[in-house]
Amino acid sequence: MSSTRNDNWYLDDIRITGTSLPPPPPANPLHVGGLVGSSAASGRKNWTATVTVTMHDGNHAAVPGSTLSVQWTGGATDSADTDANGRCTFTRTLSNSISSTTLTVTGATHPTLSYNDAANHSTSIVVNKQP
Ligand SMILES: [Zn+2]
Repeated sequence: MSSTRNDNWYLDDIRITGTSLPPPPPANPLHVGGLVGSSAASGRKNWTATVTVTMHDGNHAAVPGSTLSVQWTGGATDSADTDANGRCTFTRTLSNSISSTTLTVTGATHPTLSYNDAANHSTSIVVNKQP
């Protein structure tokens, strides 16, 4: 069969507007939906910073089973998988002489979704020591 460029456009129109629609595209990209930080005393000399990260797909729905890589102020790194609610939690114990720390999401992987940090609602968060 031979067809012109115009014929192809016509066939594409039929396919898109017909009753048999193609499946929706994959819900890309994977991105950070939000970061929530908190702090708590840890004994007399330390405190603990806790950050919960939520991962989203392209429809801003929570994504379980994503493996996150993060980095804290000073260079320490950590990794965890999001749970059924698309969340994972990172904690770090710091000396009371340190008044704040920042957690930055440095990467994310998923079996089917690709990560796009440009779509992140936020990529890092500052956690201040409780007064
Ligand atoms: Zn989102």
